[in-house]
Order: sequence, then structure tokens, then C-alpha cells
Amino acid sequence: MSGPSRDEVSQEIATLGASLFERGLTFGRTGNISVRVGEEIIVTPTGLSLGRLNPDALALIDVAGTHIGGAKPSKEAFLHAAVYRARPDAGAVIHLHSTHSVAVSCMAGLDPDNVLPPLTAYYVMRVGRLPLLPYHAPGDDSLKPLAEKVATANRAFLLANHGPVVAATDLAGAADAIEELEETARLFLLLQGHPTRPLTSDQVDELTRRYPQ
Ligand code: ZN
Repeated sequence: MSGPSRDEVSQEIATLGASLFERGLTFGRTGNISVRVGEEIIVTPTGLSLGRLNPDALALIDVAGTHIGGAKPSKEAFLHAAVYRARPDAGAVIHLHSTHSVAVSCMAGLDPDNVLPPLTAYYVMRVGRLPLLPYHAPGDDSLKPLAEKVATANRAFLLANHGPVVAATDLAGAADAIEELEETARLFLLLQGHPTRPLTSDQVDELTRRYPQ
């Protein structure tokens, strides 16, 4: 069998969780991280800070979202399972309550098909489009079909009044993407009230051709 073992992946999740927490990219007991290993998905447990994860005590679910081992999974684990079902290429999913992304998710008048303008090349390369899903209470699994549908065509989406969900082929890629998204949300807020020149559609097309998803 190729690829990292379940133990190696669990250690990577704990290390990344601590890094995200220490850098203020999520807080309290919010946020969740998952990695697909074969038919199984390792996901962070419910009720724990990402800053204090025990790699030996993570949760295991399957792609249907069923708890199959380890600790009790995050109540947002169903979102991760929905993304894996929608995206066979997805190897890792991260959801955070990162402040600037959450701030944008609370703004009125957003374009639900694509919330943020293409301000920088790295945002286009790592995130692409960012659709907005309507508000649901945490753990409300009626969000499941909406998330699964939007994830088929998008690597990232934003939950209204809640926070971002990002997928990538591996954990490092998902971390890069959600950090790029948070920085772009911060830039977007900094630029409010300032005349702004986002990348043109030709420039976005060229990046998409040069760096396909
Ligand atoms: Zn959340």
C-alpha cells in the first residue's frame, strides 16, 4: 500500500491543528480537519480545540459520514464526507472559523455564485471560485445536499454567517488554500471603500490555463 499511514496522517493533522490555532486562524473549539486514507476519513473529534489534538484520539468516518472508529467525530464531519463524495480527487478538507472569512460571510449583498473578487493570482490558483451557501445552524445536516452539490464544481465554499470549507488533494494543499482564502478575505475588507482593480477575466483565464486545478 502506498501513501502515508493512518498514524502519520494523524500526526500531520495534530501538527497542523496546533499551527492553525496558534496563528489565530481558528479559536476556542471551532474548526475541523480531515484527511482521506483509502476508504476511511480521519477527522478531528467533537468538542476539542484544534490547538490540543491528540493524534492517537482522532475520529474515523466513512465517505457516507458514518462513525466507524475512534473518538466521536466533529458535528460538522458530515460536511467533510459530503465534499469527499462530491470530489474523488479530494484528499483533505479543512473548515475554520477564521475571522476575516467569517466577517465576509456576514456581509449583505454578496454574489452567492462567487463571493470574493480575484484580487491576486495566488487566490485564483489556490481557491478559484467561492460560492456562498445559505445559513444553517451548526450541525444541521440539511446543509449536506447543498454542500455536496456545490463541491462537485468548486474546491472551496463559504457558509453564510459561519465560515469557509476548502478541499485539496492533500493536507498541505488544503492548508495553503484556506490560508490564502483568509488573507484574501482580509484584503477584501481592507479595500472596502477604496476603488479596486481586481484581475481581469483574461488574466484569470490565463492563470486557470497555466495552473489547472
Ligand atoms: Zn463551523
